[in-house]
Amino acid sequence: MNGAERNADDLFAVFDSLHFHRAAEQSTLRLRRYLDDPEIKGLDLMEPAVLLKAARELMTTERERIADFDEDRLAQIIDLYLNTGIHVHSPGYMGRQFSGVVPLAGLMDLVSSVTNQPSSFYEAGQLPNVAERLMADELNRLIGWDPETFAMVTTSGGSMANLTALLAARNRAFPGVWAGGVAEGVAEAEGRPAIAISEEAHYSVNRAAGVLGIGEQQIVRLPVDGHGRIRPDAAGPVLDAAARAGLRVFCLVASAGTTSMGAFDPLDELAALTRPRGIWLHVDGAHGASLLVSERHRDRLRGIAEADSLTWDAHKMLFVPAPCTLLFYRDGDAARGAFRQHASYVFDEEPDVYSAFDSGDKNLECTKRPMIMPLWTLWSVYGPALFARKIDHLCDLTRQAHRLLAAEPDFTVLHEPEANILCFRYDPEGFDPAELHALQLQIRNRVRADGRFFISKVDLDGVAALRVVLMNHRIDAGHLALLISEIRTTGQRVLRERARADRTADHADGSRS
Ligand SMILES: *Cc1c(COP(=O)(O)O)cnc(C)c1O
Repeated sequence: MNGAERNADDLFAVFDSLHFHRAAEQSTLRLRRYLDDPEIKGLDLMEPAVLLKAARELMTTERERIADFDEDRLAQIIDLYLNTGIHVHSPGYMGRQFSGVVPLAGLMDLVSSVTNQPSSFYEAGQLPNVAERLMADELNRLIGWDPETFAMVTTSGGSMANLTALLAARNRAFPGVWAGGVAEGVAEAEGRPAIAISEEAHYSVNRAAGVLGIGEQQIVRLPVDGHGRIRPDAAGPVLDAAARAGLRVFCLVASAGTTSMGAFDPLDELAALTRPRGIWLHVDGAHGASLLVSERHRDRLRGIAEADSLTWDAHKMLFVPAPCTLLFYRDGDAARGAFRQHASYVFDEEPDVYSAFDSGDKNLECTKRPMIMPLWTLWSVYGPALFARKIDHLCDLTRQAHRLLAAEPDFTVLHEPEANILCFRYDPEGFDPAELHALQLQIRNRVRADGRFFISKVDLDGVAALRVVLMNHRIDAGHLALLISEIRTTGQRVLRERARADRTADHADGSRS
């Protein structure tokens, strides 16, 4: 055997399908045990240095030749991955907006990965591009835009979708900027390009404004009510004042499900403000757009048909693996207007039946995961009722959490839940804001460190609050009661320690005087 043949043999071994099959069986068995684990688990937060060491020990030291396949090493890598991950399938996981996914969705990711199907162009991802079209039609029926003229693209995450929508809006209002930049492309009489958002808008909107060169000073802040919703009565005068100050607000970003409290801005009333002023209404529905699938909850997005664009994360409330984001435009021409340049090596000058299905011309990304496949597969196999059922269940569960917490005298619930996010505080004694803030932080950190429940915290009016996001249908009233009692016990322990520390300090003071 010469050197070239030996090298080729090594390579063939790595790509061997029998190896792959055996490893896949092993891995799915491990995943099955993981899914069936009855223990309540939040997060096992390991120190990075410890995890680095553990992970480094799993790396082959072979450098000269391709290492032999070691089943055991693979098993250990998978175990380490599973053990250090967030346990989205456990009832202890209530901390974030990533969902406990339908496991079958992951199988489609496996198929996509093994076959490596990027999806921006029809010729390199035929089924994904067709599936995008089908999913777009299915979901647009719920949005209510003209099926002939709307457009949808997938993006890697809601942040990317928000950026893309703002770019499209900016290019529609200021068509000269793409070629001339802001300095040349905006006539002085037009006013400085500006956007309007509330304090509750997701930080990705601010970042997008930064990327587009809009500048903090051109971000107009819209006031919110006690639930975190934009107040339309107050927004009108703010927009008019901005215009008088020489700002040209080209886009208003509303939230359908704010990140902190899950609040839904009144889209119909906001559309009544933006339409006559020629302002693009972008709805950041990364979290809450999925409520459109539910007959019972779709009314939260009343007025969505009047919007110009919508960010919709399927990896949140449609229970598929991240990332899978759909960005909808009411007007397909505006979608293409986001990216005005031509790259002749990928964009055919003469569109044909194939390139009509390309999404690359409406998209920042070139190579992109065929992220629609898990979603379209679930939708095809189970139908939309799967999503409606789970959404209804999670919203009911969150209302139940609200009732339970409201009945506890030592807890304060901060809002009626509009979806599946709920904020509250442990406050047994009516503490002042600084003490209250410190207490919530300590509780959240200790509860997380205990590893049974994973909850998050948000700052509301500058004071920390505890927050649960219920993404897992396995959570029941018993788990909620357990969580409440764990928070109470933890809070009481923190307060006892605080009192003891105060006494020690007093004592020290006393002995000095
Ligand atoms: C999650 C979220 C985002 C960001 O989306 P990613 O998919 O995490 O990039 C933006 N806006 C809102 C309202 C969100 O909930």
